[in-house]
Amino acid sequence: GTEIPEDHPRHASLLTRHRIEAGVEKGITSKQGLIAQGRGEAFDYLLGERTLPSADAAARAAAAALRSAEHPVFSVNGNVAALVPEETVELADVVGADLEVNLFNRTDERMEAIADHLREHGAEEVKGLTGDGEIPGLEHARGTVDADGIGAADVVVVPLEDGDRAEALAAAGKTEIVIDLNPGSRSPRTAAIPIVDNVLRAVPNVTAHARDLADATAAERRAIVEEFDPDAALEAAERAIREGSFDGGS
Ligand code: ATP
Ligand code: MG
Repeated sequence: GTEIPEDHPRHASLLTRHRIEAGVEKGITSKQGLIAQGRGEAFDYLLGERTLPSADAAARAAAAALRSAEHPVFSVNGNVAALVPEETVELADVVGADLEVNLFNRTDERMEAIADHLREHGAEEVKGLTGDGEIPGLEHARGTVDADGIGAADVVVVPLEDGDRAEALAAAGKTEIVIDLNPGSRSPRTAAIPIVDNVLRAVPNVTAHARDLADATAAERRAIVEEFDPDAALEAAERAIREGSFDGGS
């Protein structure tokens, strides 16, 4: 494959493009996923390609919520599978979450390809292929989930989720953790915990916080979640974009 020198000024963004391209070739990422990637790259550039302190606080709140959950589920789409397969499997392992493939444009082939890809990266059980559950308020193809996966979850991690589906999941009473680089998008705006950061940085960061909170008490974890302010986190990200020096990574 293509080797990108580590010291290249746009190393992270080139690596990301390369992984998404490979994902499309492997049949795990959709063409829509390529467009989503372009949007994400623009926002990451505006944010300076770094984890803001507010995004780090969100990652810590997410880790606390996942550690306190009865039935956490990590929803995996074609971009997440292409970009952070190993990191996703690792986070699910550390917090005891189920992995569920959940696609906006659901096809059996892509569902299977993503499940295989996650297994190649260490996943044991991958949910999503049964599709015997439904998120209320969405047309059938968009609302299909596993009844014993996202259907039964109390806390869900939904990176790069569509706005309608994010709203329906929140309306279904799930505590929603959204990872999305656009602080103005509806998905992070409906989340209990919006992490405005690149999944490449955010997923391992949530894992690091989850490890750090391994011995925290239930009361300590609850306090971390309660002290987190989603509106303040979204505002901080917007401010960083508006006041940014646009010199990120170049
Ligand atoms: P809606 O308001 O319905 O959510 P949208 O314009 O946000 O519409 P999406 O399909 O949700 O459309 O767009 C993809 C989202 O994924 C964008 O907000 C983009 O910033 C985000 N995104 C893309 N790549 C990444 C990434 N690597 N990490 C985090 N977020 C990403
Ligand atoms: Mg969106």
